[in-house]
Amino acid sequence: MLRIRLHGRGGQGIKTASQILGTAAFLSGYQAQDFPLYGAERRGAPIIAFSRINSDPILERGPILLPDLLLIADETLLEDAQAAPLCGSDSETVVFVNSAKTPENLKEKFSLPSLPVTCKLTELCLKHLKNGMLRSTALAAAGVRLTGLIPFENLMESVEIELEAMGITGQPLKNNLELAQEIFEKLNPRTIKDREERPLSPTKLMIMEQRDVKDAAPFITATGNMAQRKTGNWRIHRPEIDYGECNHCMICYARCPEGVITMDTEGKPVIDYDHCKGCMICAQECPKHSIKTLWEMDHELEPQ
Ligand code: SF4
Ligand code: SF4
Repeated sequence: MLRIRLHGRGGQGIKTASQILGTAAFLSGYQAQDFPLYGAERRGAPIIAFSRINSDPILERGPILLPDLLLIADETLLEDAQAAPLCGSDSETVVFVNSAKTPENLKEKFSLPSLPVTCKLTELCLKHLKNGMLRSTALAAAGVRLTGLIPFENLMESVEIELEAMGITGQPLKNNLELAQEIFEKLNPRTIKDREERPLSPTKLMIMEQRDVKDAAPFITATGNMAQRKTGNWRIHRPEIDYGECNHCMICYARCPEGVITMDTEGKPVIDYDHCKGCMICAQECPKHSIKTLWEMDHELEPQ
């Protein structure tokens, strides 16, 4: 059984990626399972999806805690302790990261147990789709290729099935197919060890305490901890203020839904990047168009 776990952020198409992967495996004659896991979070929040592929019926259920293949759509997740994309992986897990960095660079920076596979998916999505954010086709194509189990034509058919079901047809569909083809041709299959004998993901039985009906209304007893949760690593886009253009009107300060823009003693807006989630409302609202939209990954890019 091949257990694949996909990590990304809300809005990157991680659920669709797992569907394309599952459908491509099914078209290739395998049994397949795919499903996402996410809460009420929004664009930019960490999202997980899972795919299981097997020649025999798949009886295992639930989240994959011990993955054979990890597909990470956003490198910033490696620094997010709560997303913990490497959780349950070991030296035999094949790790794929969408990154412009070299595998050696990533291994050293994040203390990975083995060299990851990297590919600049964002750049390829920008080239084919003119949108670096949508990574479903790209991530699925990388996963399909790395498994070495799924023929190219089944990947193409799966992309068509899943995207047409979402209403994506014509030129946008063609662009996605070209994207999938380029990624399939760029990567090489990896040997992924058959770990059928691995122990099943550990599960814990929870016994819920029977509480009195009057306790049914929710109440929060813990003190607020938002300041400690560095939501800045959710960011895909980065707002950057051009102070030469800014007229200190304070509109961005008033409109930021996270309250992370403050005005300094000279009346200039200052962004708290530890907590800015990159929604870019400030850029849309700025009457002087003095807030630029940068790619967070480009901002972080280290010289190669
Ligand atoms: S992108 Fe702008 S509006 Fe959105 S959280 Fe960051 S500073 Fe606030
Ligand atoms: S909305 Fe634009 S012009 Fe106004 S304070 Fe913010 S950055 Fe400056």
